[in-house]
Amino acid sequence: MTTLADPVPGGRPGDVERATALSGELSGRGVHGVVLSYVDTAGIGRVKTIPTARLASAAAWGVGMSPVFDTFLANDSIVTTDVLGSPDGDLRLYPDLDQLVVLAGQPGWAWAPVDRVTQDGERHPGCARTFLRRVVAEAAERHGLTFKAAVEVEWTLAREDAPGDAFVPATTGPAYGAARQVELGDCTADLLAACAAQGLDVEQVHPEYAAGQFEISVGAVDPVAAADRSVLVRQTVRAVSRRHGLRVSFAPAVVGQGVGNGGHVHLSAWRGGANLHSGGEGRYGMTAEAESFTAGLLAHLPGLTAVTAPSPASYLRLRPSQWAGVFTAWGRETRETALRVVTGTAGLRDQAANLEIKPIDLAANPYLAIGSLIAAGLDGLASSAALPEETTGDPARLGEAEAAARGVRRLPVSLERAVEEFREDDVLRAALGPVLADAVIAVRRGELASVAGLDDDQVAAAYRWKY
Ligand code: GLU
Ligand code: MG
Repeated sequence: MTTLADPVPGGRPGDVERATALSGELSGRGVHGVVLSYVDTAGIGRVKTIPTARLASAAAWGVGMSPVFDTFLANDSIVTTDVLGSPDGDLRLYPDLDQLVVLAGQPGWAWAPVDRVTQDGERHPGCARTFLRRVVAEAAERHGLTFKAAVEVEWTLAREDAPGDAFVPATTGPAYGAARQVELGDCTADLLAACAAQGLDVEQVHPEYAAGQFEISVGAVDPVAAADRSVLVRQTVRAVSRRHGLRVSFAPAVVGQGVGNGGHVHLSAWRGGANLHSGGEGRYGMTAEAESFTAGLLAHLPGLTAVTAPSPASYLRLRPSQWAGVFTAWGRETRETALRVVTGTAGLRDQAANLEIKPIDLAANPYLAIGSLIAAGLDGLASSAALPEETTGDPARLGEAEAAARGVRRLPVSLERAVEEFREDDVLRAALGPVLADAVIAVRRGELASVAGLDDDQVAAAYRWKY
């Protein structure tokens, strides 16, 4: 379980001693530097790096970085809110030593996620990881709940030697095809080795549907660790692929039409070691609380989309009948509903049952996304919300009347619509707090302005190599 304690000036108890020992051990293993990693509101991974010998100092006092990145756009231009986006001020980045790993795909480097703290030692209200820690801590305090989560990572492999920023898939083999596995087998074997060396329990890696596309899934862990892992997995995929002369895109859409890259989240709520999604009296073994949690997610999905599908390119992916889940509906093992109830295999259900949330891509900040999903589910749980009827098959085939009768809505078809839904969702905005909520709105609007007048292919090209 990730520590839910905030960093403090001078270091969390025991951290400085631990960092001192760690830096000696890391140096002995040939590690020269540590990557301090976080994700901004636009979903871009940002870093500072320090020499290994500075780790104890970072654990005690953090490392400086401007707060301006909270309102950076994917193209590195800057927007502002009432309190963010100014060139003034500084924050301290505190590494979480529990999550520090030696990077197998980048010899000489270790990696750690950070929380961002003000120079006065307070929580930074714009820190996404701090937000997720807070949501998890409050769920434990108020509801006695813990969670398990995992992010599925899909990416597209392209040839690095393609001219300019053009997209030339690294393999043309069929979807889920053996040919594709053979063609990229050296690279994916190195990826598996790197993940194993980094302690990532990979469940599977496979060729996905679209040209050059692959997917990796890792085991479920606590929500903060799951978000950390999704960042680490991407750092690893990128590093290993580069060594094979391949370029990686985690963008929601690498081209204007067709199946995109998702970042589905698997989530389950637990109380006292028992999985609420299994062994209950509700549908498919869900407890009443799991049904209400699912209902809460369904109700908030339109507003959530501004957090989980944050890029103009996200809406090239969020189209019906592409397994991206663009309707507010749920179904058991249904790949076209936004929520897929996964019961797990007989014999494993008490461990494996969970909810898969599909309208999420890897432009999303995973800390903001998972924290917002949990907040939405808890809103349903707290109000004992009723879960509507299940939908089987592709909701796209439902007529208007039937969809309306079932409460099945198409999720926002554009980032602009998603922002409107988010603005009207008091629960989500309150969960994020005004600083983060305003940052989400300002950054989404900034992204929209940056692609004004572009067609689908141009939007895909604008973001293709950003994520
Ligand atoms: N690529 C699909 C998406 O964009 C997901 C495919 C799958 O179900 O794994 O969400
Ligand atoms: Mg997939």
